[in-house]
Amino acid sequence: MQEILKLKPIFQERIWGGDKLKKHFDYDIPSDHTGECWAISAHRNGDCIIENGALKGMHLSEVYDKYRELFGSAESPVFPLLTKILDASDDLSVQVHPDDEYAMQNEDDLGKTECWYIIDCEENAEMIYGHQAKTREELVGMIDEGKWDALLQRISIKPGDFFYVPSGTIHALCKGTLVLETQQSSDTTYRVYDYDRVDEKGEKRQLHIEEAKKVLSVPHKGSTVEPVTIEEENLTVTKYTSTRFFTVEKWTVNGKADKKLKEFTLVSVLSGQGLVNGLEVKKGDHFILTSACKEAHFEGNLEMIVSWIDRIPC
Ligand code: ZN
Repeated sequence: MQEILKLKPIFQERIWGGDKLKKHFDYDIPSDHTGECWAISAHRNGDCIIENGALKGMHLSEVYDKYRELFGSAESPVFPLLTKILDASDDLSVQVHPDDEYAMQNEDDLGKTECWYIIDCEENAEMIYGHQAKTREELVGMIDEGKWDALLQRISIKPGDFFYVPSGTIHALCKGTLVLETQQSSDTTYRVYDYDRVDEKGEKRQLHIEEAKKVLSVPHKGSTVEPVTIEEENLTVTKYTSTRFFTVEKWTVNGKADKKLKEFTLVSVLSGQGLVNGLEVKKGDHFILTSACKEAHFEGNLEMIVSWIDRIPC
């Protein structure tokens, strides 16, 4: 059984995208309007190909279907997680994602709870996270009247910050941010407000106001993440979040370090280089430590964002 699946990222052009995925990670991007790197994904809108070992050349979705033993006790009918890197060179639309129940009924997709690790951002960068309305009537009224400044909550961000964005949260990444996103494997977004922007044909992007009004949480349920740091031998573990959707941590290795794995684990290398169970990895690489790999042996200098789904005991 293959212990490590290295993935070939898929790049998606967006009107708000830029060239930081090339500048920061040296990726071969399609244009200087590249917004998203789908780094670990088996979603139908961007299904990564395995780059190494016996399974080389297969799509991650095929590997998940045919070799489920590599994914431990995963019960989801589709590969459940998606890791992206987003380059917001301009403001993203103000948006909300549905939960599993609504998305499965209406979109044939999973819901989208997501979280963000801020890799880099401009000084005084912000994002939109949550709203001020106390009741659904108030929320609907403010959306209908376009009272965006009064409705939307802006918070300042800096590199290294982490945010948990449950489905139902109104949010937007703003200009000048480079973010690693760990999310449920979903591509369902309801746009609430797009700053009345028009494209080169003078057309506005489609909004989904009615859907958004149904799925938005009222009042806003913000959750502040207080990271917990644990020092192990040659390894610093920073714990950010652990919910039924995913657990996300940062592992920083300096030298030789061993880590027992609970489940198949998604890994994105933010900086440095080294070896993982003998395989060479470097900044910008993304891989899955499958369930065939009970322990990870790291060597080198590596800063990594890792995620997995913790089984909640019955
Ligand atoms: Zn989002």
